Amino acid sequence: MTTDIDAPTGTDPRPQAFTADVAKLLHMMVHSVYSDRDVFLRELISNAADACEKLRFEAITHPELLGDNSDVGIAITLDAEHRSLTIADSGIGMSAADMADLLGTIARSGTKAFFDRLAADKGEPTQLIGQFGVGFYAAFMVAERVEVVSRRAGSDEASLWASDGQGSFTIAPVPLDQAPFDRGTSITLHLMEDAAQYAEKHRIEGIIKAQSGHVPVPITLRDAPDAEALPIADGTALWTRAKSAIAPEEYKDFYRSVAGQFDAPALTLHFRAEGRQEYTVLAFVPESRPFDLFDPDRKGRIKLYVRRVFITDSAQVLPRYLRFVRGLVDCADLPLNMSREMIQDSPLLAQIQTGITGRLLGELEKTAKDDVAAYNAIWENFGSVLKEGLYEDYARREALLRLARFKTTTSAGEWRSLDDYVTSMPENQTAIYYITGQDLTHLASSPQLEGFAARGIEVLLLPDPVDSFWVTGGLDLGGKPFKSVTQGAAELGLIPLPEGAAPTETAPEIGDFLAFLQAELGDAVSAVRTSERLTGSAVCLVAAEGALDKSLERLLAGSGQAPPNVKPVLEVNAAHPRIASLAALGAEDSLRADAAHLLLDEARIADGEPPLDPRGFTERLGRVMARAAG
Ligand code: ADP
Repeated sequence: MTTDIDAPTGTDPRPQAFTADVAKLLHMMVHSVYSDRDVFLRELISNAADACEKLRFEAITHPELLGDNSDVGIAITLDAEHRSLTIADSGIGMSAADMADLLGTIARSGTKAFFDRLAADKGEPTQLIGQFGVGFYAAFMVAERVEVVSRRAGSDEASLWASDGQGSFTIAPVPLDQAPFDRGTSITLHLMEDAAQYAEKHRIEGIIKAQSGHVPVPITLRDAPDAEALPIADGTALWTRAKSAIAPEEYKDFYRSVAGQFDAPALTLHFRAEGRQEYTVLAFVPESRPFDLFDPDRKGRIKLYVRRVFITDSAQVLPRYLRFVRGLVDCADLPLNMSREMIQDSPLLAQIQTGITGRLLGELEKTAKDDVAAYNAIWENFGSVLKEGLYEDYARREALLRLARFKTTTSAGEWRSLDDYVTSMPENQTAIYYITGQDLTHLASSPQLEGFAARGIEVLLLPDPVDSFWVTGGLDLGGKPFKSVTQGAAELGLIPLPEGAAPTETAPEIGDFLAFLQAELGDAVSAVRTSERLTGSAVCLVAAEGALDKSLERLLAGSGQAPPNVKPVLEVNAAHPRIASLAALGAEDSLRADAAHLLLDEARIADGEPPLDPRGFTERLGRVMARAAG
């Protein structure tokens, strides 16, 4: 499909018009205020690399195409003095007709999709350019004039295509003795004034390393036309090499370049999937926590390549709860010119996601078995993120539960697995007990734990906000549900207290006293009852059966969602000496009423809450102290 009916070979020296859609696209490029203009280089290098790959492929059956020179590669030359940048490749090249056809119309489906989107939702064009990648024409974002000299491999004709991006282009033959090479393409960008930085070495070097360092052909850079060409990318993609041929040091360097971090990988996963989907994965779990791990906008950091050409690092290749993993996936089966949106929605990507997630979790499980210290370090850093999967990834919650590690009331600061927990459960224990809250030390001293400790029951200490959510998801382990020690009845009756573990004598007046507390505290509590979970403390608060656990209630309130206004239950230790003395006071003693309110505040303070009515609290405390001091 040529643009000029008079020039079927494309060698007419007269200017030829671009097709209407190219003209439109070019207009956008020239007037683009797109902030990330760097992408032009990625597009041109990707085309050059493709041309080299095509030649390699064709030379399999036609080795004569290579002539005397079997090396393929990309050479970039900068000329700051003349404000120009040349990208030359020794790839397959284009004939004059190819150029008229390929560089005059819109060949790529990605660009068509770009126009469709533009027409459909009138999206902001400068945004869309970045998302779709518009190929060769991206050159006009930075160049006021583009010249392409090309010679098709095996041909003895070379041609020059030139355009200022203003609606037309010219194609003219180039005498062979003036063609700078025996095959391939050389694209020279005469840079706009405000794009002069693209003729500077450090700028171009940085962009190549960031965007194209792993294209499958070697790249050299010359910072002036007469300077020496220095290698800048060696053209071997690390991940395409056999695992056995890669040294740990190489993995580490690669991790650093791909993740932009300076630590080392705590776990490296490198595999090739074959079968229905063909792709290679090289993924790393970092040794340290990235600072923005909990930034809600933080996206995954897996780069997506298609046949070694970088496509995007914003595709969601892994589920959110694996957002700390860095690395890349290189797939053989995605079309290279698919838009980012189309890639994201592609069923291929979904299959790849399932594949990689499964492998990663499997690898973590293996590490947990083989190298406990290494695994615990990973959990220490990323456990609180992995736990998000317990409620986000229904299908994998069992695998994630197996991976989960907890500090507990008996673990002395060490990490315990649920397997460890279940193995050391006393007979008759019917649930896996936990307590949620904000920090471990505070949790460990909660009065609600006393009855469990006295019976030798281990309780999981769950200090992360995410814990309050996943525990409500109806999970169980081998038929044992998760149960909060601060909610509902303790149901500890089946597990007897060891002899002498705590006083068991109940004050005779306890029934009357509880009724009095209930009447005195009124609406502040939903019920007052004796407690199975207290041994040392006098009182504690728990959530009513079926009500939200307190830490979840606090989180919801903190995030602006009003939790249902359900009052807590005040539990009283009927065997506590202070309770016995208070219960024995005469009905007319004013200390009883003060004590009722102070007991409630005592329970609140133990939970890290302020007294219900601070002024009332200080007055009552004052009266009680005055009386005690006589
Ligand atoms: P795409 O690369 O998606 O096809 P482009 O607009 O970038 O779209 O390029 C259009 C076509 O021009 C390419 O498909 C290719 O055939 C040809 N082309 C571009 N650059 C080169 C090059 N350096 N060598 C050979 N052919 C090229």
